[in-house]
Amino acid sequence: MSGLVIEGLTCRYGDAAAVDALDLAVPDGALLCLLGPSGCGKTTTLRAVAGLVAPDAGRILRDGEVLSEPGRVLPPERRRMAMIFQSYALWPHMTVAGNVAYALKLKGLGSAAVGTEVAKVLRAVRLDALADRLPADLSGGQQQRVAIARALAMEPRTLLMDEPLSNLDAALREEMRLELRRLHEAHGVTTLYVTHDQAEAMATADLVAVMQAGRIVQLGTPEEVYAAPASAFVARFIGGTNLIAGRHLGGGVVDCGGVALACASGSAAEDGSAIVAIRPHAVMLAAAPGQNVIAARLVRSTFLGPVRELGVETACGITLRLTIPSDAAVPGSGEVLVSLPPAACRMLAG
Ligand code: ATP
Repeated sequence: MSGLVIEGLTCRYGDAAAVDALDLAVPDGALLCLLGPSGCGKTTTLRAVAGLVAPDAGRILRDGEVLSEPGRVLPPERRRMAMIFQSYALWPHMTVAGNVAYALKLKGLGSAAVGTEVAKVLRAVRLDALADRLPADLSGGQQQRVAIARALAMEPRTLLMDEPLSNLDAALREEMRLELRRLHEAHGVTTLYVTHDQAEAMATADLVAVMQAGRIVQLGTPEEVYAAPASAFVARFIGGTNLIAGRHLGGGVVDCGGVALACASGSAAEDGSAIVAIRPHAVMLAAAPGQNVIAARLVRSTFLGPVRELGVETACGITLRLTIPSDAAVPGSGEVLVSLPPAACRMLAG
């Protein structure tokens, strides 16, 4: 298979497996985000792909060539990979152009070719006007662009990024997500991207691999992972989801403390514990009782700009978040009916 393939990768620190029999394929030209909480093994996986960590078991291949297996690791400098870190790792005494040129000179390019190439990649990351600045005179986002330009100049076959935006402020992070996506579409370098920020993964990736305890627990497009989380862990991690614990009565109906909720998707063992997952924007205020309509008490109303988030609680202890347009009227009395449309309810094993 072409692209990057990880087969049964296990990496241990002492007795603990940081990466545990992990299987993953990054298709040629795709940007795949490894997404997961702190300590789940993302960085160790990335470092194994870079050749900086040797596997205890399993293999890493690119286009069928074995790059790593126990006892045989192709050195990082022979992998044609570039790595971008959260600390930009720029040479402080060299200008923007100098930082990019340095990598090219190491590759053995002559000075005319270096000049052409530097100009080309600095244009690509929109830094051509700042070629003569030192890193200390750049913003965080601009410094990150220099690191990206330097990586692109190396014409890597694989690009590895480890939390590349985590040192930037929120506004710049949002801007740089779009920039990274634009650069990926322009250059199409097969990319493995590590982050714990689900919004970053959604905005930049072709594919998202959610990691838990050293393994991939779900792989899909951002849309698939968001709309159809495979487990309560994924639903919780992707964030912004109401999770209601109950028992599966059969036929997709979950008893949540005396309230029967019908779910159109998902699965759980019959008579076993189950969780109903529903996004806040799918929960609605209802005018009349009906299927999946629950009586609740309004306990919170928070203005969030384009939407207002309401918090409600039912008599049986279900708490829910829902959003309404911020210009919609907030129910005057504290008593409300909320509708959880079955089509938006997904049943997960509890
Ligand atoms: P983060 O998002 O916090 O960087 P991560 O998902 O990238 O986390 P890793 O850095 O790969 O996770 O770490 C996975 C596990 O391996 C953690 O339990 C960590 O404590 C452990 N670990 C990582 N590096 C070492 C090391 N050099 N020696 C011992 N244990 C380590």
